[in-house]
Amino acid sequence: MGLENVKEYLYGCTRCGTCKDVLRIFVPACPAGEKYQLESFFPSGQMSIARGISEGVLSLEDDDLRERIYACTGCLSCEQQCGVFHHTHIFEVVQALREDAVTQGFMKPEYMAMYYGLRGEDNVFGNPKSERGNWSKDIDVKNAAQESVDVLYHVGCLLCYEKDLWDVPKSAVKLLQAAGVNVGIMGAEECCCGSRSYEIGYTGEFTKYAEHSIETFNTMGVSKVVTSCSDGYAAFKNLYQKIDTKPKYEALHLVEYLSQLIEDGSLKLTKEVPMKVTYHDPCHLGRHLGEEAAYDTPRVLLNGIPGVELVEMPRNRENAWCCGAGAGVSQANQELSLWNANERLKEAKATGATALVTSCGWCEKNFRDAVAEYGTDIEIYDIAEIACKAL
Ligand code: SF4
Ligand code: SF4
Repeated sequence: MGLENVKEYLYGCTRCGTCKDVLRIFVPACPAGEKYQLESFFPSGQMSIARGISEGVLSLEDDDLRERIYACTGCLSCEQQCGVFHHTHIFEVVQALREDAVTQGFMKPEYMAMYYGLRGEDNVFGNPKSERGNWSKDIDVKNAAQESVDVLYHVGCLLCYEKDLWDVPKSAVKLLQAAGVNVGIMGAEECCCGSRSYEIGYTGEFTKYAEHSIETFNTMGVSKVVTSCSDGYAAFKNLYQKIDTKPKYEALHLVEYLSQLIEDGSLKLTKEVPMKVTYHDPCHLGRHLGEEAAYDTPRVLLNGIPGVELVEMPRNRENAWCCGAGAGVSQANQELSLWNANERLKEAKATGATALVTSCGWCEKNFRDAVAEYGTDIEIYDIAEIACKAL
């Protein structure tokens, strides 16, 4: 566990600085480093910290040091830019540092609410579990905990509890039902996927939720588990591979499933939606998925909606700038996460688009919070909300 497991990667960094900017276009790549402009916040600094801890020169007791390891948004942009052999393991090292901090009792106080929220109510906010399905009260959708369905729509903690985002799961269900999918939700029985626990170092909590989710989905006998939450999706696809129990279902992000339904003719998006939009690639639907990153799928979907004009930001696809909410940063360091989001909003505005579209609730919320904080004049949508307008 922890640094012991990643020792082979600690001495790879040459401190060349390549990870600080996007290759060839020379614009910032690392949110944490760019915000604080200190070497210790950049990936190379994180690797130096890890070596110092491993060699016993530094200690996780140090508050300033922990500020650095918890400023990383887990965006994996550094892994994209770095060309040295350890490059696909940089965030793994940061996560290992966080895991050791938790094990040694130096957990970040801001995460205690999340920890107790998970323990008591199975969600990262600590909201009542009984209210998890409230978002669906005024729609007609099957309860998969009580009746048999073919496809389970997993909503995720944020979209279940954040009222301002309830249009996202409602739009998703509407689209799936319009395509004739036998879809259901778990309502109050749904649990956290465990992704946030993993990224902030609570690996034990992650394992508990991952095992529970796989066993529940297997027992239900669904053929597909579909989600709009990119964090949750990356957990289903990547992190759940760490668990011994193997899934008997296919995990899909909503954009992937919608594209399949459009392709086989089940879903038709025909209504004119006159909008000039730009698309933000969530890190967990992009870099976190490696070879399986969904870069084309959301763009093909948007371009297929009559009236939608899609324009690109300079940092797109594998070079996308993070929204700032990842790896627990939005819960523990709002100043950093909102600054990050606003940097992205400025980039989006410069394209001439009137709306920024994404496919992750965490990104959407962080962008909306940044719009409120900085007064940036741009609309924020999830891709399901745009697709729903075309039904
Ligand atoms: S992490 Fe990679 S790109 Fe960044 S300084 Fe180290 S070797 Fe260079
Ligand atoms: S994962 Fe993102 S925030 Fe963390 S060190 Fe790498 S580029 Fe910086």
